[in-house]
Amino acid sequence: MSGDFDDEGNEDDDDEYGEDNEELSASKVRQILTPYERAAWIPVCNLGDGPVDCSKFSGIPYLNAKDSWPLCDVCKNPMQLILQLDLKEASKQSKSDCGEGLLQLFYCHHASKNARKNSFLRLLEPGDKPQKIEKSPVPNAYPAKRITGWTLIENDYPHSSELFQFEDDIECDIQDLADFVDRTEEFRPKRGDKLRGWHAWPQGADIHSCDTCGTDLELLMQIDSKSNLPLEFGSDGTALIAQCPVHKDQLRFDWSN
Ligand SMILES: [Zn+2]
Ligand SMILES: [Zn+2]
Repeated sequence: MSGDFDDEGNEDDDDEYGEDNEELSASKVRQILTPYERAAWIPVCNLGDGPVDCSKFSGIPYLNAKDSWPLCDVCKNPMQLILQLDLKEASKQSKSDCGEGLLQLFYCHHASKNARKNSFLRLLEPGDKPQKIEKSPVPNAYPAKRITGWTLIENDYPHSSELFQFEDDIECDIQDLADFVDRTEEFRPKRGDKLRGWHAWPQGADIHSCDTCGTDLELLMQIDSKSNLPLEFGSDGTALIAQCPVHKDQLRFDWSN
């Protein structure tokens, strides 16, 4: 994480900077960050697979009649279904437009940091006749967990590295604010699996833009190490599915640690 570069303990500096150098407090930071709060939703899960078209972690994915189970480019094995998310349900839950269809993320756990090679993310339009698959072909498949509900987090805050984009609108020293946020758990983006909110970047933000319109992608779903699935992205990393706020089918999977 970024260090604290404040020259603390040197009281003479306070005079030099005058009133602008007013010390930050939790209540002041809460007030400063209010415009940037986002709601997020934590999935509530039941152990066991559900219907083939439901939202779930692991388990049997919805596959249209002519689909085949995606294989890993690296080891050629069938990949784990990490997440299947009904975007209509996600839209309803988050009261935001997440698009429609079934989002599916497949992933094969390798040490490789190139998430493109051992993952497959797609948006599927379910047809009328899904394949009937009794047993997962994935070696050592993770236990299936059906998403049965969502718990609201009312105020998720941006990672300190994302605050700099709001520098012109924030009336305090942005580096002081970032340092305060970094050392105060309340103001850090929540870890764990969640829908929407702000991504808990392990280092700094690495935001990609939409291939179609160039708009910055936003967090659709965060998938964390050792949360609903017993997998780890690098060493305690976090993964995300990002989405264009305009083009809901422009989706991107990445992880970092
Ligand atoms: Zn593989
Ligand atoms: Zn776009």
